Amino acid sequence: MKAVTWQGPSKISVEDVPDPTIQDPSDAIVEITTTGLCGSDLHLYEPLAPFMTPGDIVGHEPMGIVREVGPGVSKLKVGDRVVVPFNISCGSCWTCERGLYSQCETTQNHEHGTGASLFGFSSLYGAVPGGQAELLRVPFADFLPVKVPEGPVDDRFVFLSDVLPTAWQGVEYADCPADGTLLIMGAGPIGDMAARIAMHRGIRVIVVDRVPERLARVRARGAETIDLDAVDDVAEEVRSRTGGRGADAVIDAVGMEAHGNPVAEKAIKAVGLLPDAVAKPLMMSAGFDRLAALHASLDAVRRGGTVSLLGVYGGAADPMPLMQMFDKQLQLRMGQANVRRWTDDIMPLLVDDADPLGTEQFVTHRLPLAEAPEAYAKFQGKQDEMIKVVFTP
Ligand code: NAD
Ligand code: ZN
Ligand code: ZN
Repeated sequence: MKAVTWQGPSKISVEDVPDPTIQDPSDAIVEITTTGLCGSDLHLYEPLAPFMTPGDIVGHEPMGIVREVGPGVSKLKVGDRVVVPFNISCGSCWTCERGLYSQCETTQNHEHGTGASLFGFSSLYGAVPGGQAELLRVPFADFLPVKVPEGPVDDRFVFLSDVLPTAWQGVEYADCPADGTLLIMGAGPIGDMAARIAMHRGIRVIVVDRVPERLARVRARGAETIDLDAVDDVAEEVRSRTGGRGADAVIDAVGMEAHGNPVAEKAIKAVGLLPDAVAKPLMMSAGFDRLAALHASLDAVRRGGTVSLLGVYGGAADPMPLMQMFDKQLQLRMGQANVRRWTDDIMPLLVDDADPLGTEQFVTHRLPLAEAPEAYAKFQGKQDEMIKVVFTP
């Protein structure tokens, strides 16, 4: 089959690789019809390079049709239409039983001390082949894949793999009062979808970014916006729009931004020259992240408010303003989305004819797998008015 593979920092290629096979009785093989490109893939593209192995199949936002099931699978049939959550959860361990699917104890990674294994996410998360491919092996097939109805186009459902439950969890964790103001840092796919979900609940939303078409898109759906490059101080601007107090809650949908950050880019280059044993711990602790969005979030939230962190951060060197956080009595919630925890809650909005979250207009670029290398580069550079890319293998 054809698959999108990582070959080195900023090097993606489409290769012919062996078809996946059933390895465990509870596996299924899914033929992928639509599969997303995500901001998280950009972390693998460059900053997480030391955890990647050339040839790794990337991607974690797939949906498709079940082509084969193992002998232990009873609930899923060949021909079923499914979306595959990005985190691999067994559904029956201690953490899964508590809805903490991104922490699944069955698939946790003891080598790096990380949570549930993820599709297409390097050795840091279990080195499981990803979903930007023609076929995908899906473990725990009786629990993990989300069955979706026949009829509506893939775009209605494909974002159940990541974007929708992630944005949903961000809004849930932000816990913004119905009459409050929610600030969202970042108008990429995740921030945009979080804005849609919050506005669907009637919450006032302000979104911050610097990419004009991304700001225009959230504005067109009713959000207020702040252009990062047009204000001196985001938090000050937010306070001026909220009676001096700040936002009731903030969602950080940015995360580490290595690209365009000279310190980070230097670190990434240096790491490529070092042996793994030195490079891996360095990348886990290096100050290569630009934590601007996180610091602005902590500043812009009102006293007693909540910061909900969806953006992925990898470094540890930039000190957190603990005095400010303590003094303002903040709550901070974060983590990988517990995808399976939210899928049933979201489904009614996806089968609603009115498409209240606008899933059918969410994709800006629909491309064959063969165009993945260009798509990665353009998505990283925010070129071509690219906001959400899906591949159609
Ligand atoms: P993206 O890279 O397309 O979007 C990030 C946006 O942030 C860009 O539009 C960029 O212009 C903007 N930005 C950069 N610096 C900023 C700043 N200082 N203030 C405000 N905006 C700024 O990525 P995405 O697909 O929307 O994902 C966003 C983040 O969410 C990534 O870090 C991704 O890894 C993470 N993510 C987390 C989960 C999870 O389970 N928690 C799941 C999916 C994605
Ligand atoms: Zn994703
Ligand atoms: Zn589990």
